[in-house]
Amino acid sequence: MKSILDMTINEMAGVEFDCACGKHHKLDIPHIAIGKGVLPQILTMAAPFKGKKILMVSDDNTFAAAGQNTLELLEGEGHQVKSFVFHTGSEMLIPDEKALGRLFMELEPNTALIVAVGSGSINDMAKYTSARTGIPYIIVCTAPSMDGYASDGAPMICDGFKISFVARLAYGIVGDTDIMKDAPMRMIQAGFGDVLGKATALAEWKMAREMVGEYYCDTIAQLVEKALQKAIDNAAGLAKREETAIRYLIEALTLTGVAMGLIGVSRPASGAEHMLSHYWEMYYIAHKRFPEFHGIKVGIATPIICQVFELMADKMPAEALEACPTRRQMEELLAVAGAPVLPTDIGIERELFRESLVGAWKVRNRYSVLQVAVENERIEEIADIITERIYG
Ligand SMILES: [Zn+2]
Ligand SMILES: [Zn+2]
Repeated sequence: MKSILDMTINEMAGVEFDCACGKHHKLDIPHIAIGKGVLPQILTMAAPFKGKKILMVSDDNTFAAAGQNTLELLEGEGHQVKSFVFHTGSEMLIPDEKALGRLFMELEPNTALIVAVGSGSINDMAKYTSARTGIPYIIVCTAPSMDGYASDGAPMICDGFKISFVARLAYGIVGDTDIMKDAPMRMIQAGFGDVLGKATALAEWKMAREMVGEYYCDTIAQLVEKALQKAIDNAAGLAKREETAIRYLIEALTLTGVAMGLIGVSRPASGAEHMLSHYWEMYYIAHKRFPEFHGIKVGIATPIICQVFELMADKMPAEALEACPTRRQMEELLAVAGAPVLPTDIGIERELFRESLVGAWKVRNRYSVLQVAVENERIEEIADIITERIYG
């Protein structure tokens, strides 16, 4: 059998193999279609649901971007589709109790398939609904903005707090670059930020393997590294919406989800940079401020975590240091993609920033470079150095 390292992302659908790490890896996503002009492939995925009810979910923006075309394709094939559009206007759809309740109200008995057309919020709500009802869902991606298309987590807002629900994997992923290259530029930059975060996540995974003997899979790490590198090499094309750059970006985002699905842990996708991002997000939500796109925050947090690695170099295993890029490299890449680089670019105040560096290690129970700094009683000093650099 072909090694997973030589497969295209589309070939990875439903893959399973015995790995050198000692585990049997299996991906429960039956269909993946990513590439230029792949939208019609939804018909192959939806074929088994002929004669049954399909609920298609989108919002005003995503309906215009891809919903209309998806609906026409499905209806043209004789599918019975009910289309529900969230009328959000120019507002961003927030995946909270109200929106989710609204979606459930539209869900008719005997619906056999959900087709979600959108990115973050729509994907999360469809994923959650799918998990709770057992109805499979296909996601038609409209923006390469985050890595949740191929993951089983569904973060939602409940009582004003963000809760990460474990949901389920998609039955099908359709990522047409002809659609995604027209996504709002901020969402493309967000996707790139989320991808850059894999650099520090991978370095930290190596650190945890060396320092606390955490489970590590070299094949999966290599898989993510390769995808990350391709996205980085094409970063300059993102600002020009070049097809290749968008394709490598969505491939890297999807592949990270695939990697998590294969090993059942999020180590290759999320490390201390996600903890910082999460800390800021919780603060923003609690203060009823727009929390900014996930990947924009992760992107900004990445060079900061690189600097933490640099400042903790004497305590870091050589493998982790070698794997971690420099702060400058990461800042330059963000700038190349036109993305915000500093916390000040998205209005994070000095107090919040310093506090986040000291407290983010508690965001989740996972061994991180921040925790190493805490254990060595150096986190306060590090927080001062980085805060001083950024805020003066
Ligand atoms: Zn493995
Ligand atoms: Zn992320």
